[in-house]
Amino acid sequence: MKLLRSLGTLGRGFAHGVHPAHNKEQTADLAIQRVPFVERYVMPLGQHIGVPAKPVVSVGERVERGQLIAEPGAFISTALHSPVTGTVRDIGPHRYIGGVFKPAIEIEADPYATQQFEAQPPIDWEALSIDAFIEHVQRAGIVGMGGAAFPSHVKLSIPEGQQIDDVLINGAECEPYLTNDHRLMVERPETVLRGAEMLRRKLGAKHATIGVESNKPEAIEALNACIDVNDPVTVVSLEVKYPQGAEKMLIKAVYNREVPAGELPRNIGIVVNNVGTAVAIADYFDTGMPLIERIVTVSGPGIDYPANLIVPLGTSIREVLRFCGGLSEETREVMMGGPMMGLPVASLDAPIIKGSSGILAFTESETGRPREYPCIRCGRCLEACPYFLNPSRLARLGKARLFEEMKEYQVMDCVECGACTFACPSNIPIVQHIRSCKDNLRQHGGAN
Ligand code: SF4
Ligand code: SF4
Repeated sequence: MKLLRSLGTLGRGFAHGVHPAHNKEQTADLAIQRVPFVERYVMPLGQHIGVPAKPVVSVGERVERGQLIAEPGAFISTALHSPVTGTVRDIGPHRYIGGVFKPAIEIEADPYATQQFEAQPPIDWEALSIDAFIEHVQRAGIVGMGGAAFPSHVKLSIPEGQQIDDVLINGAECEPYLTNDHRLMVERPETVLRGAEMLRRKLGAKHATIGVESNKPEAIEALNACIDVNDPVTVVSLEVKYPQGAEKMLIKAVYNREVPAGELPRNIGIVVNNVGTAVAIADYFDTGMPLIERIVTVSGPGIDYPANLIVPLGTSIREVLRFCGGLSEETREVMMGGPMMGLPVASLDAPIIKGSSGILAFTESETGRPREYPCIRCGRCLEACPYFLNPSRLARLGKARLFEEMKEYQVMDCVECGACTFACPSNIPIVQHIRSCKDNLRQHGGAN
């Protein structure tokens, strides 16, 4: 995808990375609004990383908005709740983002229901043991809201003997076009801070830090306005650079510390959570609302009326786009997520899921696949890779399908950020070669 480059702004950062144009102007100032309820909702059972959830409802059963409809299928799994009051119409395969069919629960909304979520009395989270707190987070269905959808309770499960010193809230939002985290920090800074405080206290950390790229001055200002000088929380302004939102890059930028390859941030005393996750946790303990809706940025040159929307999970992409005036005739591709790491949408009937941070529509000029040229050994991909890998070599080995050799060059450490592909003047689809190798190694058990 062709994206114009722009200069980064000042702030703390990390080595390497790239500077795609932000393209956030379309939506950065647009207040979050709620999409109307529609007739039909599809809740895939596997919309998080890990084992799919197990249905606890049957076809024909009436469900209330926020009611548990599927329980966690294992430890690395989360619950699902009904996004609306209505009737379960089907439990079976439904079309997913990539066009494949995956098991899901389909719910028809009751047209006469108010669809208001009845807030429950707050849960006394301070009185809960850490295990009980973690169990609540799992049963609330909360996952990382930045796009990866990793179950949050797993991140909070710290092995005995490990001390967490700092809770890092990820407000970098380094992907171009996306502004849903930005709007959340501008419109609900107290809730972001409340979620951060809950996490800090329950994990026994001394301090919390919120890292925000410096192209979001209103967000930094709004958060700072809610912080008292004695509060154990700091907002850090970061250099504007991609992929700043990747956990290890964020840690390097904020603390100038490195997480060793193959290890987790908690091994160096840090737990990272997205701002949306902090808000979901605060909302759940304050009102009892599980994860049944999320904020989605709808943007891109193919959209006439871009927006930041609260969307009930399970709403089809088609309905969300309809609310934004539909796609322009010039649209050639729709993506879920940001343009660097998002996935092309094969069917507009696929639903919004927990990891859907954005729906972006692109026209011919952004999607035209430029002609690929031979590698000129310019080294730009090496300079771009934040993990200090050798992308040009990985691409060559990938083309030759030498997957075992790619392992020797640490292909499994690649986070598939696409910075190398963005930097390559020869238009070599480096990240696609890497992704295909990783898929192959995972399928054939050679990933370790
Ligand atoms: S090799 Fe992987 S981690 Fe490095 S820039 Fe390319 S996609 Fe990102
Ligand atoms: S950026 Fe592209 S052309 Fe330059 S060394 Fe890397 S793969 Fe080769």
